[in-house]
Amino acid sequence: MHISSAERAGAVIIGGGIFGCAIAYYYTKNNPGKKVVVLERNEVCNAATSRAAALVTRIRSKKHFIPLSMETYLAIDEMEKQLGESMGMKKTGVLHVAASENSVVALDELMKTAEEYNDPAEYLTPGAARQKAPWLKTDAALKFGFMPNEAYCDPYLLGTFFARCAKMQGADIRQAVEVNELLMDGNTAVGVSTNSGKIFADAVVIAAGVWSPIFAAQAGIGLPMAPVRSQYWITERNDLFANSCIVIMPDAQAYARPEGGSLLFGIREKNSLAVSPKKIPSDISHFVFSEDKGMHDLSEVIDPLACFFPMVHNIGLKYYIAGFSGYTPDNNLSLGIAPGAKNLFFATGDVGAGISVAGGVGLAFAEMMAGRPNPFDFSCFDINRFGNIDPFSQEWLNRCALARSQKKSG
Ligand SMILES: Cc1cc2nc3c(=O)[nH]c(=O)nc-3n(C[C@H](O)[C@H](O)[C@H](O)COP(=O)(O)OP(=O)(O)OC[C@H]3O[C@@H](n4cnc5c(N)ncnc54)[C@H](O)[C@@H]3O)c2cc1C
Repeated sequence: MHISSAERAGAVIIGGGIFGCAIAYYYTKNNPGKKVVVLERNEVCNAATSRAAALVTRIRSKKHFIPLSMETYLAIDEMEKQLGESMGMKKTGVLHVAASENSVVALDELMKTAEEYNDPAEYLTPGAARQKAPWLKTDAALKFGFMPNEAYCDPYLLGTFFARCAKMQGADIRQAVEVNELLMDGNTAVGVSTNSGKIFADAVVIAAGVWSPIFAAQAGIGLPMAPVRSQYWITERNDLFANSCIVIMPDAQAYARPEGGSLLFGIREKNSLAVSPKKIPSDISHFVFSEDKGMHDLSEVIDPLACFFPMVHNIGLKYYIAGFSGYTPDNNLSLGIAPGAKNLFFATGDVGAGISVAGGVGLAFAEMMAGRPNPFDFSCFDINRFGNIDPFSQEWLNRCALARSQKKSG
């Protein structure tokens, strides 16, 4: 390929969701003077990011996520200072409710993990658990674990904090610019072609959310992830909800947290919906996620949920929110350097945890793009771990959907 004297940048990032904005934040912070351009075809954080339930989970059974989430908390503190504004993190803590032998074993492990990472955690009695979540029915539960440092946030605010701080540090964040093509010179990524011209760069990052496999295919790579629907509901107001903590109910494959005076709750449906990236419109608000606002999916799991949240049978549901996350068969992210290609990076396959891990993802890529070592262990996130796959095939979509429907927590 002949490289013209068109626009040049140190790095170009496709996608202005929370991953793209977090990478731009750390890249400009850690590599002063280097030019980074973020290209977003709509407005920043319009897609998965603004739809998240936004539990910013620190302690998980998948330990390699933990340092990434811890970094998000550090970034929030730094950005609040930089902007002189509070992000209004809701540090309610999280209550884990175990109601089966398997869940008790998993909870005991999680409590040990919290200790390992020096995060506070304590077992609670049923009465103490009810004080943390007054709407919770505790009869069916065997054990309760509480972690006071866990929080949730406004995901749009977190994403735009990254974008605003990145801009203050010199990032060029362009909205309404659509990337049409990844430009390759042999096996080296050299830039992108957009609806307003070409940009050449030393590093190209694909952070295009569930549309990322389309760009990967242009480099001959079958990116291991698939768009799988997540959905949740927000109830009408009730005094029992306002002061609740976050509650994780693995035996109902459900979670809940307060949303103002309402309760936001989400489930893992029996049959998760996976859709080819090629069939998802560029403006996600044009996609019909469910004709019946998820009522059929909810009805299939309502009995186990009602064991812990009996009000679910009668309470009014004010809002239904759904969106796509990039799932993988092993519920690990797909992150890192592209196999067999140069200067090409993938910040993808968020497995419904992208708000939590955004800080770590941002820092890791800023370092790798500058040729420095990744401060985190990405071995579980290797792009190559499933071998050659076709991310657009029905068989692959089914495998990724199954991973979500079997997910217990996190
Ligand atoms: C219902 C729901 C609940 C969730 N709850 C949680 C939670 O509790 N905790 C948690 O941590 N995570 C949660 N998530 C996951 C979280 O929202 C995602 O992991 C995160 O937002 C992914 O960020 P992203 O930047 O990868 O993707 P996105 O936010 O989707 O950003 C990708 C961007 O790329 C842009 N783009 C795509 N193609 C192009 C192109 N050709 N040119 C230019 N721009 C392009 C898109 O417009 C989009 O803005 C939830 C997700 C959903 C849907």
